[in-house]
Amino acid sequence: MSGLPVADRRVVRRSVLRLVTEDGRAVALVLVLHSAAAVAGLAPPWLLGRIVDEVTAGGGTAAVDRLALAIAGCVLLHGLLARYAQYTGHRFGERAVARLREAFVARALDLPISVIERAGTGELATRSSVDVTTVGTTVRDVTPVMVIAGTQLSLLFGAIFLLHPLLGLVALVGLPSIVGVTRWYLRRARSAYLAEGAATAELTEALTTTAEGARTVEALRLGADRVADGTRRIGRLWATRRATLALRSVFFPVVEASYALPIAMVLLFGGLLLEHGMVTLGEVVAAALYLQQAIEPLDRLLQFMEQAQRGLASFARVLGVGQSTGTAATPAAAGAPRPRAPTSAGPGRLVVGGARFSYPGGPEVLHGIDLVVLPGERLAVVGPSGAGKSTLARLLAGIDEPREGVVRLDGVAVTDLDPAERCRRIALVTQEHHVFIGTVRDNLAFAAPDATDEQMRAALLAVHADWYADLPAGLDTQLGDGARELGAADAQQLALARLVLADPDTLILDEATAALDPTTARRTERALAAVVVGRTVVAIAHRLNTAHDADRVAVLEDGRITELGSHDELLRAGGAYAALWRSWHG
Ligand code: ADP
Repeated sequence: MSGLPVADRRVVRRSVLRLVTEDGRAVALVLVLHSAAAVAGLAPPWLLGRIVDEVTAGGGTAAVDRLALAIAGCVLLHGLLARYAQYTGHRFGERAVARLREAFVARALDLPISVIERAGTGELATRSSVDVTTVGTTVRDVTPVMVIAGTQLSLLFGAIFLLHPLLGLVALVGLPSIVGVTRWYLRRARSAYLAEGAATAELTEALTTTAEGARTVEALRLGADRVADGTRRIGRLWATRRATLALRSVFFPVVEASYALPIAMVLLFGGLLLEHGMVTLGEVVAAALYLQQAIEPLDRLLQFMEQAQRGLASFARVLGVGQSTGTAATPAAAGAPRPRAPTSAGPGRLVVGGARFSYPGGPEVLHGIDLVVLPGERLAVVGPSGAGKSTLARLLAGIDEPREGVVRLDGVAVTDLDPAERCRRIALVTQEHHVFIGTVRDNLAFAAPDATDEQMRAALLAVHADWYADLPAGLDTQLGDGARELGAADAQQLALARLVLADPDTLILDEATAALDPTTARRTERALAAVVVGRTVVAIAHRLNTAHDADRVAVLEDGRITELGSHDELLRAGGAYAALWRSWHG
């Protein structure tokens, strides 16, 4: 299962071209240097041929010495030029890889949450590690080698033609089989390597989730199950690797044979031409040496063609991350400007109209929700587990888009809002509070990069984060693994302080205190009480005292709102809420 798209060839080609043209001068310099190095590399075989001819003609040692000295000079020049060419090439590669990585991170951060949830973090992790590295290696190491090899080969074959056109023609006999088998190989390689990449991602995903859920695995004794699942996935990966290996095992032997053939033919025909006095012995020797010299670049070219193929497959997967059209990202994907909701008026009016929703491949969870949340109102949503409360919260926060109907904030569909704007205006508060590795300041700055230290301290104070006073280095204290670890309530307060700084006008609280122990829950509630002032609040209420304190209560049962009114009204009505309240009060 791969939830993220893979870019098509056209997009990949355009991106490769952009990568080259963005740094056009460096690429031109690399080409010039490599060509010069290749020309310097061509001279020795020709000079060696000259030595053979000199000796055959009975020339003196002085001429041979001169030629030998010229060979040494050419070798030295070739080495120097090749070194600078490689140096320039690597610098270009590093710059290109840096640009790629930056673009990848930007694209990954732009992904709507629902897309990441559907794709799985393993998929994204593989693309950001294995695939980006493969592309990096391809750009940095493979492309320069292919450029060098290509230049060398054109010059080598050109040189053989110059020695004698017939020798040149004979030298080409190996090419048809090389071209044929390469085309055969490349046609199959793309899909085979994509399959291998997908199987690797699935395995990574399985291993990551097992590691993350190690406690659950242990508690429920799922060890054997997870091992069996891992074995199955390894089996699938093994099958895809076998497929790519099968391709290589046809490709390389054919190519090897195609190298030997032209050398034999050049010697054979060269002998015939020599007998007819059409070439000298030195020219035949030079041609054979050129062909021998061509093996190495040809080998590298073909070998790296495979690597380049892998690189292109990975590049397609990397670029695919930017092509994700999540349920919450349609206008951006289409390149349309996102409307902005009016911002000056404080909390907005949240309207849900005829909203229906189902998770991919699942039954309908919400069956036509109509709801208006007034600016500044506190609305509690209660109902049995599985009724769709969390799903409604996700729709209200714009994480998912209703399949039918709309969720609007001040007249603008929340999923149409620019993601930054949406985050600024609506916040979904769940129980998951991640403390990022870094300082307290880093952790708070996510929400408000421009916040001053004073504002940060005020935010922590507002949510009653008393622990802040004990921190050794204040805002500069390191948090997270290996540094200061925060308890559940402290982490929640940090998250709420972040919320105070982000200052959204609408809060969707989902199970914010449900699974916490009573002391932690009380501390969190106190912190929350400080945060909710002056904002519109929709609280998914798991404890009825939340509902009691709210302005209105909506009862959600089986994906429908069955009751809506104030606590007192609903009690008087004597419906489901009244029954719930009575049973809760025992
Ligand atoms: P509640 O918050 O009221 O307990 P939820 O909104 O979590 O209810 O769930 C409503 C229904 O949607 C349930 O049947 C649940 O199984 C299903 N559901 C919730 N999350 C997902 C998901 N990510 N994928 C598929 N189905 C889901």
